[in-house]
Amino acid sequence: MCALLLSHGVAQAHETRLPLDDGKFSSEPRRGYIMPCDSRFPGGGGAHRVGEWIRNGYWDAARKPTVDGDVAWPNAAITVNVEGTRRVVHANNLPKHNSGEFPIRPGTTAYQYDRNPNRIRDQQILLTLPANPSLAENPSCVPMGMIGFALSGVPIFNALDLLGRDAPAYEIQDQCNGHPEPSGQYHYHDWSPCLTNDDADAPVGWMLDGFPILGPVDARGKAFTNADLDECHGRIGTVKIGVARWRCITIDSRASTRTRSAVFAECAFDSFAIGSCDRVI
Ligand SMILES: [Zn+2]
Repeated sequence: MCALLLSHGVAQAHETRLPLDDGKFSSEPRRGYIMPCDSRFPGGGGAHRVGEWIRNGYWDAARKPTVDGDVAWPNAAITVNVEGTRRVVHANNLPKHNSGEFPIRPGTTAYQYDRNPNRIRDQQILLTLPANPSLAENPSCVPMGMIGFALSGVPIFNALDLLGRDAPAYEIQDQCNGHPEPSGQYHYHDWSPCLTNDDADAPVGWMLDGFPILGPVDARGKAFTNADLDECHGRIGTVKIGVARWRCITIDSRASTRTRSAVFAECAFDSFAIGSCDRVI
């Protein structure tokens, strides 16, 4: 499975107006929707005010402010190793790129919309993923916490906020599209412009079901759209893992309605992995 990332502002930088995906969740796998494990959405946290960049069912990523600051994390660490049949990720949850300043500082533009009081804290991350995941019978749901992990050392969450709204549209992130939650875990909800993606066929991270996450464009520079993806936001394609190329069947349980969206692939975990990889080169 090659779980995909879609992106705003990367492949089509001039096209920044995106559909607002509020309430796009479903109890069934459905193209264009997220399938959360719990759809009660208690609220809390996140943005306290709707930004002017959100209007008439769309939002404009270019008009949305970012969190001020440029904080370096020299102790950031991540290793990814294949050990037998498992892919083992060790990390300390600090980003390998700079972040904004958290808590969001009063008086800044970001603070007018989102008073994120959380501080980025190191946390020990140990993920033991299947190195060659296989298909599950059916897609399954995604939680509200970590659903994948980026090679920048940053967890990936799904794209809903605690009200079931389009998190990337409302929540104010930093210049790398990241922010911390109450325990201090810095994370993305969508594509990060700070992810290295020089090789479009190489993973930028791993879903928790063991399938690779790819960037928002293919090797020819074409941006993926929902039409290219299944109801789990996956596709069949070739992925470069190490020096080899693998043919992957993809699926994951998440989907975005955006055509060039800011939403990561969501889905997957052992129980709902629907992919398999075969070495082709
Ligand atoms: Zn978040």
